[in-house]
Amino acid sequence: MESTEPITKDFIREIIDEDVRTKKYKDRVHTRFPPEPNGYLHIGHAKSICLNFGIAEDYQGLCNLRFDDTNPTKEEEEYVQSIIENVKWLGFDWENRLFFASDYFEKMYEYAVQLVKAGKAYVDDFTADKITEYRGTLTKPGRNSPYRDRSVEENLDLLQRMKAGEFPNGQKVLRAKIDMAHPNLNMRDPVMYRILHANHHRTGDTWCIYPMYDWAHGLEDSVEGITHSICTLEFENHRPLYDWFLDALAVYHPQQIEFARLNLSYTVMSKRLLLQLVEGKYVAGWDDPRLPTISGMRRRGYSPSSIRNFCKRIGVAKVNSMVDFEFLEHNVRDDLNKTSARFMGVLRPLKVVLENYPDHQKEELEAVNNPEDPALGKRRIPFSKTLFIEQDDFMENPPKDFYRLAPDREVRLRYAYFIKCSKVVKKDGKIVELYCTYDPATKGGYAPDGRKVKSTIHWVSDPHAISAEVRLYDRLFTVVDPAGQKEADFKEFLNPHSLDVLHECRVEPAVSTLKPFDRFQFERLGYFCVDPEATQNKLVLNRTVELRDAWAKIQKTAQKK
Ligand code: ATP
Ligand code: MG
Repeated sequence: MESTEPITKDFIREIIDEDVRTKKYKDRVHTRFPPEPNGYLHIGHAKSICLNFGIAEDYQGLCNLRFDDTNPTKEEEEYVQSIIENVKWLGFDWENRLFFASDYFEKMYEYAVQLVKAGKAYVDDFTADKITEYRGTLTKPGRNSPYRDRSVEENLDLLQRMKAGEFPNGQKVLRAKIDMAHPNLNMRDPVMYRILHANHHRTGDTWCIYPMYDWAHGLEDSVEGITHSICTLEFENHRPLYDWFLDALAVYHPQQIEFARLNLSYTVMSKRLLLQLVEGKYVAGWDDPRLPTISGMRRRGYSPSSIRNFCKRIGVAKVNSMVDFEFLEHNVRDDLNKTSARFMGVLRPLKVVLENYPDHQKEELEAVNNPEDPALGKRRIPFSKTLFIEQDDFMENPPKDFYRLAPDREVRLRYAYFIKCSKVVKKDGKIVELYCTYDPATKGGYAPDGRKVKSTIHWVSDPHAISAEVRLYDRLFTVVDPAGQKEADFKEFLNPHSLDVLHECRVEPAVSTLKPFDRFQFERLGYFCVDPEATQNKLVLNRTVELRDAWAKIQKTAQKK
């Protein structure tokens, strides 16, 4: 798949086209990304971010970043900061439009008073359990609360006292007065305010009543002049309520549009589940490179553009589906291929001594930094008598289809010389060292007599190499949909081999010039990046993704079927 493929217009942009044509919102297009600061953002949120900010870009409109911080008990400043950083890192800009729902608490309260005065909201003394009991079911209408017909004066007085802190948690709520027999359960007198004596990360102890999501969200959109309020499918049957509140108040009315949330195979995507993994220390933190969080993907070495391309290519639909994890990796590889400098590194080193190479000779060989991008130029790599190659690249008794190094066989050392294995040194039955001869006439990796070798392997010079710890990652879960397993906790499906730490890797010296989060390719091994835990004395690298494109393989098999 090429990044230049034409993107067909999604149904949301079609709706917006029509609204622009009919001048429904004059010539404005204004979206928002409204995270609740109760966890770190994940790749699903990235889809929503790309959609909302992407639409604003496409229509020369605006997109706000708004924290939907209406629930004081689960929200934290740390999450606010991480979300701000993540959206910026993904490459989007809200300019001066950073908002907090909590900034509108006073305004929301005034609106609530307005509804009470209009006889459209009432204070109920029912407990949460009682409210549920009276709500009815899909097949059975609900029943009115005995408090439903309180007078406007009494309601105003009680609401004011709720706000003043006269009642304990849960003793009263404010409800919209809609219809207890409504076929849509969300319309059966939904709760607008509950009492919660809790400290809020921004408003402190100013409030002890907090607005419910459905009541708050439309007002936030309305106050900000949002034109298209884009949310995920589970809010589809909340839309009548979204509309009811705005109509009842007769205020500016944005259009809510729902789309299918992103689900990704072999991982979990709800903040609630991610929090369990973090708090239970199943992973190293919210930025663990195995998590589908934006912070985790950044630390893993994914580039912002690879995530944006992925979000663009999966498109926007109206039915939920599962996207293959391999497709995400395909996009990462596709992007990193174009932008990453190449280096050589050996993950599981096997020492090679070149018998006929002069003892103290050192030389520098020329290597191309990125064959995809000549502008990245060339570099020089040190070469010497003792080298390391990958253990996997040698076999003492190779099967027919193994073309790499073997006794008496010649291979090419990338950018260097042809070498031929003359002797295998073993200790306790284990291969510990190889003796090889090199052909000085093959400098640069080509034989003047035209003889060919069947493979090219990577290497590093022993005296010049730097040690590194390399962390290899595999899927975090062993099943496609860990959260969807019936009667089992998703944590039972954690992959015990999702992290493999190699302590004895040897890499070419140029890698030491890289900084945390820098991305590059180790030839033949995959894309890597420098972990933020790396120090002056200890290089720590993460493997982002292997070179082999599993997505291409899936595509091929699918075509054959
Ligand atoms: P989660 O269920 O993961 O906890 P959430 O919906 O509670 O997520 P919010 O902070 O409320 O998280 O979400 C902010 C925005 O991101 C919302 O508009 C929401 O619809 C959208 N969003 C959340 N998860 C996904 C997803 N998997 N795919 C697409 N959009 C998503
Ligand atoms: Mg939510």
